[in-house]
Amino acid sequence: MTTNNLSQTGDFLSVTRANEWHLEPFSFSLDNGTQVDVLDTGVIQFTPKNCGSKDIVLSSAVHGNETAPIEICDELIKGIIKGELSLSHRVLFIFGNPASINIEKRFVEENLNRLFCGAHKKGEQNNEKIRAAKLEAYVSQFFNAFSDKNRKRIHYDLHTAIRDSKNEKFAVYPFLNGKPWKKEELSFLLSCGVNTIMMMKSSATTFSYFSSSMFDADAFTIELGKVRPFGENDMSRFEKAKMTLTQLITHDTVNYPEFNFADFELFEVYRTINRTQQDFSFPFSDSAANFTGFAKGELLATDGDTDYFAEVDGEAIIFPNAKVALGQRALLTVIPLQNKTDFV
Ligand SMILES: [Zn+2]
Repeated sequence: MTTNNLSQTGDFLSVTRANEWHLEPFSFSLDNGTQVDVLDTGVIQFTPKNCGSKDIVLSSAVHGNETAPIEICDELIKGIIKGELSLSHRVLFIFGNPASINIEKRFVEENLNRLFCGAHKKGEQNNEKIRAAKLEAYVSQFFNAFSDKNRKRIHYDLHTAIRDSKNEKFAVYPFLNGKPWKKEELSFLLSCGVNTIMMMKSSATTFSYFSSSMFDADAFTIELGKVRPFGENDMSRFEKAKMTLTQLITHDTVNYPEFNFADFELFEVYRTINRTQQDFSFPFSDSAANFTGFAKGELLATDGDTDYFAEVDGEAIIFPNAKVALGQRALLTVIPLQNKTDFV
């Protein structure tokens, strides 16, 4: 398809997939006065005539094979361009890594979600590093368009997890450099069907940490379920997320049910266990579900002569991989969040 019938079809995903790394910018406006700016392949900005106080970034396909969020954003973009959805706020949609969508892989050369916060500048350049630099620039111009400090900046980076998870949907709340976590944001996540949240205690090179640390945006990496190919997603499982995102962009304000800690499972990162010996094993299979918890004293891993035991009741495993190279992380563990006072 060509770019000049985008205003009829709304099919920005096809335009994006046909232009893997580059697309000349172009603009048009909708009958309802919304300005549409295609900034690059996979990057489309909507500015409604009377825009509200939120600046919202919705990204997907930072990992190309994570199709469900791509399908959700594709539908939202089509709805907006066809005039079926009427925006209340400025929205920037990003399909992060179009070439990796086409090859149905997580990435082409390098994991895009480890290349933000300037990490793309390090080492030999490749397409993903160049893309990360451009995405940083598009997000910067989007958030910097207004100097008004009262505007609410939001960036939800939508993913699906590779493996099964005891808590199928979960979100990563980036490290806030000492600022308190926000209950209202957790309520938004709950409304999307996400009640499991990993609170990070250190900086990262992820897309969500970039927006959070650089622009004070309320930003999350949101895992909406398990990876499946296009067309094989049971979209009913994503209905809550899609509905909540639709409300977010089309309503001036959204009211969520009253916040209650009992509705959530909040975790904090506890430790990483590296493989240092050839002889490394887990007492569970590598496909064990994320967030499987262990009682204090239960065996978590054996690295040569060293046994690692759960040190805290409920210490839970994330992304176990016994086959990593020596010196690499074989396991991340989390524990129930210990201090619940750091919330506003
Ligand atoms: Zn992902």
